[in-house]
Amino acid sequence: MLLSFSFDIKHAESNSLARVGTINTPHGPVQTPAFIPVGTKATVKSVLPEAMKDLGSQALLSNAYHLYLQPGSDVLDEAGGLAKFMNWPGPTFTDSGGFQVLSLGVGFKKVLAMDAQTFRRDDVIAGNKDRLAHVDDEGVTFKSHLDGSMHRFTPEVSMQVQHQIGADIMFAFDECTTLHNTRPYQELAMDRTYAWAIRCLDEHKRLTEERIGKPYQALFGVIQGAQYEDLRKKAATDFGTMESNGQSFDGFGIGGALDKGQLGTIVSWVNEILPEDKPRHLLGIGAPEDLFVGVENGCDTFDCVLASRIARTSAVYTMEGRFNLSNSRFKRDFTPIDSQCDCYTCTHYTRAYMHHVFRGKEIISATLATIHNESFIVRLVDQMRQALLDGNFADMKADFLGRYLHRSGQARD
Ligand SMILES: [Zn+2]
Repeated sequence: MLLSFSFDIKHAESNSLARVGTINTPHGPVQTPAFIPVGTKATVKSVLPEAMKDLGSQALLSNAYHLYLQPGSDVLDEAGGLAKFMNWPGPTFTDSGGFQVLSLGVGFKKVLAMDAQTFRRDDVIAGNKDRLAHVDDEGVTFKSHLDGSMHRFTPEVSMQVQHQIGADIMFAFDECTTLHNTRPYQELAMDRTYAWAIRCLDEHKRLTEERIGKPYQALFGVIQGAQYEDLRKKAATDFGTMESNGQSFDGFGIGGALDKGQLGTIVSWVNEILPEDKPRHLLGIGAPEDLFVGVENGCDTFDCVLASRIARTSAVYTMEGRFNLSNSRFKRDFTPIDSQCDCYTCTHYTRAYMHHVFRGKEIISATLATIHNESFIVRLVDQMRQALLDGNFADMKADFLGRYLHRSGQARD
């Protein structure tokens, strides 16, 4: 078993930031660019790991915040780590919990309170709700969405939790802001995230030395800075060169508030500065059109809950755009969800059957639709990788988006 971590670049475009490479982890390689499906609580909801492997998923991403609360990161440590615990035969990622702790999209409306003197009234989202997270320079105190118990995450705790969970790729603990925060607050959060990153590196080094014999876990620093060019570039410069006690980041995540219309611009500011020889993960981005933007602007991996989340509501991606299988026009449609898709669902089931199981609220509806959507997105990024190698990325992109967006516009839900 390979105990180290490395990134090899096989091909880099000359006219864009796009590249093709391999991330090597102790649990196997990830050919990049790659889409990493999300299994938040150590399961891709409703789908067996074998099915995820069969549809081409190379790695899965879980959530440190959720696993810390339930079943507890110590349980995963005792089980032999995340991959073994969830019976996933490949590499795994965990995000740091910063995003969930701070934005708490988990069963609550976004409730975010900040102790800074500088925030405006609209900085506190849903201000009439209970405040679930309080940030200070040391860390974040938050209330569990499960039982209301109080917890505290610091950079050190996040590293301890992620080491216990045992994913191959972890992310540094950061303060995730929103587009609604004021510029002064973004600066404050940046300074805090910088200080936390150094503490993450130190604790990561200490834990790596302490936990002898465990497979090496790579640590990615997270680039924040919202929509501000100078802040994003400063973060990329600082994190790209950051070193503490001989420990530097193995790769980088691009996180925080990303305005969809500016996605390519923001990502290119960052990736033009980050060291070329380390992998870059674009956090929480997974819509087809956004994945093209991420790849051509130099991102190597992506994760997003969208493909599985929308699948459970009967929404599916196809070459004809995105549509909803619950619509009555599919009642007698005996064609596959997508005639060009070779996934398990499309090779065995019809739109009429999918319509039936969604209308009947059958559990299998989530399984089959998730398999299709995850297949669609994983394959789309795989096709981008092949197109980069074949030298026809621009044509492939124009061809796909021409059909996908055009027909999405026509599709009636
Ligand atoms: Zn399919």
